[in-house]
Amino acid sequence: MSKQYILTKSKYIRGLQCVKAMYFDVFNSRLAHYDPETLARFRQGREFEASYKATYPNGIAVDALAGKFMDRYPQKTADLLAAPGEVVLFEAGFLYNEVLVLADVVRKNDDGTFDIFEVKNNSQLKDVFRNDAAIQHYVISHCVNAINSFNIVHNDGDEGFVVEDILAECRQQMSEIDTRVESFKALLRQKTEPALSPGAHCDTPYPCPYRWYCEKNNTPFASQPVTEV
Ligand code: SF4
Repeated sequence: MSKQYILTKSKYIRGLQCVKAMYFDVFNSRLAHYDPETLARFRQGREFEASYKATYPNGIAVDALAGKFMDRYPQKTADLLAAPGEVVLFEAGFLYNEVLVLADVVRKNDDGTFDIFEVKNNSQLKDVFRNDAAIQHYVISHCVNAINSFNIVHNDGDEGFVVEDILAECRQQMSEIDTRVESFKALLRQKTEPALSPGAHCDTPYPCPYRWYCEKNNTPFASQPVTEV
């Protein structure tokens, strides 16, 4: 079976920073080099996420069932959500318009409505987290009915959780995201490395793991990264 998706949440977020980095993520991710600080941030993020998931003792880990076979997540998720009553899933997979997203925590309530939680180990609700939630909402809202809330869970500067519902904001971005997704997919279908040179965008919001490659292969400057369409 051919792959059902072109973009994932992380590749979309990468594309907002730089389409060349997104291209590498899709076609040549072995070029990525993460510094120790970034790897430590990933680890701390996973630990914080695990501590939030532990507050749902009835949660079912879809990743434990579907493993590394990403194409299986949406069907496995749909099968689990078909059960009556409350269902809580971790790493629930959803697919729409060739975009695959995995949501940290999805709760289907007794009345069939949904609350979704994306966990971020930061005391600030940064724009990149809002974009992260917005692309997830774009996909998930086409897969389930009656989303009650779409929440970012971040830390309170200590070990507590702060839950902020940004559903209204996500809904406002649907059309913009649709246009951007089509733009990213069209670019990836060309299978041509975008000609972009390193600049200020390479460290915002995250240090780019392909910087060593771009600095070594000093490609001619062609245009600024496509962050808006
Ligand atoms: S180093 Fe900069 S230009 Fe190169 S892929 Fe990363 S963000 Fe893009």
